[in-house]
Amino acid sequence: MFATLSDRLADTFKNLRGKGKLSEADIDATAREIRIALLEADVALPVVKEFVAAVKDRARGEEVSQALNPAQQIIKIVNEELVTILGGETRRLRYAKTGPTVIMLAGLQGAGKTTLAAKLALWLKDQGKTPILVAADLQRPNAVQQLQVNGERVGVPVFAPEAGNGVGNPVEVARSAIDEAKRKLHDVVIIDTAGRLGVDAELMKQAADIRDAVQPDEVLFVVDAMIGQDAVTTAQLFLDGVGYDGVVLTKLDGDARGGAALSIASITGRPVMFASAGEKMTDFDLFHPDRMASRILDMGDMLTLIEQAEKTFDQEESRKAAEKLVSTGDFTLDDFLKQMQQIRKLGSMSKIMGMLPGMGQFRDQLDNFDEREIDRIQAIIQSMTPAERDNPKMIDGSRRARIAKGSGRQVSDVNQLVDRFFEAKKMMQQMMRGGGGMPGMPGMP
Ligand code: GDP
Repeated sequence: MFATLSDRLADTFKNLRGKGKLSEADIDATAREIRIALLEADVALPVVKEFVAAVKDRARGEEVSQALNPAQQIIKIVNEELVTILGGETRRLRYAKTGPTVIMLAGLQGAGKTTLAAKLALWLKDQGKTPILVAADLQRPNAVQQLQVNGERVGVPVFAPEAGNGVGNPVEVARSAIDEAKRKLHDVVIIDTAGRLGVDAELMKQAADIRDAVQPDEVLFVVDAMIGQDAVTTAQLFLDGVGYDGVVLTKLDGDARGGAALSIASITGRPVMFASAGEKMTDFDLFHPDRMASRILDMGDMLTLIEQAEKTFDQEESRKAAEKLVSTGDFTLDDFLKQMQQIRKLGSMSKIMGMLPGMGQFRDQLDNFDEREIDRIQAIIQSMTPAERDNPKMIDGSRRARIAKGSGRQVSDVNQLVDRFFEAKKMMQQMMRGGGGMPGMPGMP
């Protein structure tokens, strides 16, 4: 899902790497690339326009952050705008205060409504609810039976019109289902309504009649994400014809571009509440705009890290260290210690490293990282004289022995620290030349 968009955006950000400052031309070029990326992802044009304008505006206006380099600043803006177009905060189900919560599903035939009804029922059951499914799709020949089969799969009862009485009236079925739910103490009623191959007035009327009769707590519009912009058009028609509170996207697993997911909330003004991404009953969850955005940006929890860095970094301190390095190429053990202490303010080392993308494979090492390591380094550096800290090259054998003794460590520990310091210094100098990486975080390539 979103593979092309992810790749495109990654390329865009790559072009910004190494820039010290964003020029007007950089911002324009970036905005153009983002526009193309979104259009290729099949995002609706008005949404694209709004998105690009917002990114441009903010990139120009944003106060220059010292904790973030330009690429990171743009990533942060794009991320926040993605969250916005995806609907902002996660919208959770509203439950009725008294009596059963009634959820009505509407949508086209083949949208995946019947499958979704069962997935939703299972999800609710897992949350400790006692749902009942209602077969109010009396149009499609096998719909009732299909819902019954699905209900059985997830262990949720299905309320269906009596056999022989099959031509029944869907409004009546929905009404009696709610009575049944009250009698049998089901706390959620999920009503599956009829769909058609295309949008027509009769279908809309039937859905609206059911809605008026049962006054659902939530009307959910179910739509197949694979149909791209058609999903957005249909969503608009249903909004005018029936109205609904939220959208459920199905078949996200088959939607490589993500156009529907990215457009529908902005266009309809209704949040995407659930996403279904597979044929299995468990391939279903709440839709979290923030998580979806980080997935698109393929960032692990990098964004959390960026935010924390902004909050915790002593910007003045980092700026001074960076300046010193650029102007004199100088970086002392005292600076090294200060940086380590700054990083530490962000949280535990294993947690920080774990938030970086691609670190999953090192999970074991991270879990075993000894947090006291930083204390040890601190003890060793503090056992050095100011002259030694300023000029670590002077730390010869006898000094090493003295420092080891003073800090209660082994000479090998001192050796390791000094080696590490020179490595970090080299890396920092490379980074400053390249302009990439995290400024102010020399330990983190
Ligand atoms: P309805 O007509 O709206 O009730 O649609 P159905 O629930 O019968 O689903 C239509 C088809 O889409 C069925 O073959 C489902 O197995 C399939 N389907 C439903 N949801 C998903 C999904 O999230 N991913 C995939 N790949 N297929 C799905």
